[in-house]
Amino acid sequence: MSNSEGKHPVKAMPVGYEKVKSIMDEETYKWHHDTHYAGYVNKRNEVEVELSKVDRGKANANYSAFRALKLEETWNGDGAVLHELYWGTIGGDGKYDQGMDVVKKITDDFGSFQAWKDDFVATAKAARGWVALCIDIYSDGKLRNFMFDVHNQGGLVGALPLMVVDVFEHAYYHKFGPDRAAYLNAFVENIDWKGVEKKYKDLKTLPAIMP
Ligand code: FE
Repeated sequence: MSNSEGKHPVKAMPVGYEKVKSIMDEETYKWHHDTHYAGYVNKRNEVEVELSKVDRGKANANYSAFRALKLEETWNGDGAVLHELYWGTIGGDGKYDQGMDVVKKITDDFGSFQAWKDDFVATAKAARGWVALCIDIYSDGKLRNFMFDVHNQGGLVGALPLMVVDVFEHAYYHKFGPDRAAYLNAFVENIDWKGVEKKYKDLKTLPAIMP
């Protein structure tokens, strides 16, 4: 086991409650981070420690302890990372300007900013777990909205999220009840576009394929 395995930290909420109160109540702010997200980080660490000890000689696709751990490795790992990306997406004022590189790219790839937003919200209404605006690096470098139906199922290999919304019921039921559309309206108005712009600029320096 390398030194970093089993030692992922529970990262502090990067935004204060006041900045996200339009999309969650104070109890959800605490529960979602302290119990839910931390649970994924802690189990990710536990799985990594168990993986260092499990018998790989008994690996089997019908059932084996190794297979079970490999499945829960990505369930918990994605559960942790997607929540960190979600916290990183929210806490803004939903405002953006046409001069932002990411807004120009959205307009180019979706036809208009409104077309992107309509597709993002529709995808978030159709998803069971997560939706992310991604750079589809391995295909063609275009931006696309992808659904991760559960943490470790969905998405596309090589497509890196720029921003993420959590649409599992625990994210919004305590404030909005079953009205997911109201949550999504509030979410869109709470996006930190400066943060999305920074992530886009960081990620687009990665692949030579990016225009
Ligand atoms: Fe969540």
